Amino acid sequence: MRRRKKAARVRDDTSAKPRKKAVIKRVKAKKASRVPKTRNAGTMTEAAFWQFIRAALRNKSRWWKPRLYCLQKARRPSQSSNKRLKWEFKCAHCFNWFPQTQIEVNHIHPAGTLKCASDLPQFVENLFCEIDGLEVVCKKCHDAHHKKE
Ligand SMILES: [Zn+2]
Ligand SMILES: [Zn+2]
Repeated sequence: MRRRKKAARVRDDTSAKPRKKAVIKRVKAKKASRVPKTRNAGTMTEAAFWQFIRAALRNKSRWWKPRLYCLQKARRPSQSSNKRLKWEFKCAHCFNWFPQTQIEVNHIHPAGTLKCASDLPQFVENLFCEIDGLEVVCKKCHDAHHKKE
């Protein structure tokens, strides 16, 4: 019994599969290191840099006044029996009422991609739009809306 186990282990060690995986891993690592880190003191690739800028802008847009006014316009005192919920919000697509945790603010004209400097002006214009460019939607309608695009 003991001997058979040992034999099986030896066979595993010499099988081709794990070695193949290791080679693939090494090739991938080589490829990744070839993408030059041109940004942030040599610590960021171009793609990582634009992701970073995009996240920073998106973060700031949470406190954009039209977004807050859009949420205020779509809310009413909660009719739910849950007394901890102060407000509920009307979805602009299905017209049902939802607690704040189940709604999102949609950009009617999407902010789009931000992958290089030339994307920046349009991205900023779209993201920081006025109230008529925004709507409150429930998560389900929001998902459906973006799948259609
Ligand atoms: Zn909805
Ligand atoms: Zn959206």
